[in-house]
Amino acid sequence: MIQIDRLPAFNDNYLWGLYEGQSAWVVDPGDAEVVQTWLTQKNLVLNGILLTHHHNDHTGGVEALVDKNPMVEVIGSKQALKGVSAPVSDGDTIDLLSRRFRVMEVPGHTLDHVAFFSADPSPILFCGDTVFLGGCGRMFEGTPEQFQSSLDRIAQLPPETMLYCAHEYTQANMEFACRMLPDNQAASERLKDVISLRENNVPTVPDSLERELHCNPFFRLNDPSLMNQIEADETVSMPERFARVRQAKDNA
Ligand SMILES: [Zn+2]
Repeated sequence: MIQIDRLPAFNDNYLWGLYEGQSAWVVDPGDAEVVQTWLTQKNLVLNGILLTHHHNDHTGGVEALVDKNPMVEVIGSKQALKGVSAPVSDGDTIDLLSRRFRVMEVPGHTLDHVAFFSADPSPILFCGDTVFLGGCGRMFEGTPEQFQSSLDRIAQLPPETMLYCAHEYTQANMEFACRMLPDNQAASERLKDVISLRENNVPTVPDSLERELHCNPFFRLNDPSLMNQIEADETVSMPERFARVRQAKDNA
């Protein structure tokens, strides 16, 4: 069975280290040293790298890791990611250690963004900067249509799917979520939990998709109390509702 380790990097990034026996993979190695230290401590051999998108805090360590571990395979979007040896696109499958992953193209934060989903033995998703707990990534390159439809696809995954996001942004996101969803008890309880976890420096990631569906405003664009906050009625399209919530968060 694959073990997944959280490797904190920079201020608030999480790199994800996967291993089984002595074989390891890493997701979004922004910092090679963090990964190399983990490999040494656990006596692991790096077999490969998964990249969700091109931003430097997700890819900055690739070159150094490939130099040190020449057999490493680098898997990422087919769209011009520097250093990718195995480009993938939507629906491709990747056999990685004892799991099978399916590639989902989820443009919005960037155009090249992909997520990696694996159903067995328990559903997990490496979602990079597309979904954060209580929020989503900034819309740097995509359109509201693209981003909203990417989130919609993620919402269709099994609710018990654990979301392995790339940043610890949950507290700020849940503060915003509570403003967007003022009557949502799940949101206010979660914010309390998150505050006390963070006071004790405990990570909040990963968490389940089910929880997001209840209290992440970007998954609740049909919620009357959220629609009220963004002054939207039924005639306002889902991408437009997404755009208004995203804008409100950008200005928060
Ligand atoms: Zn990013």
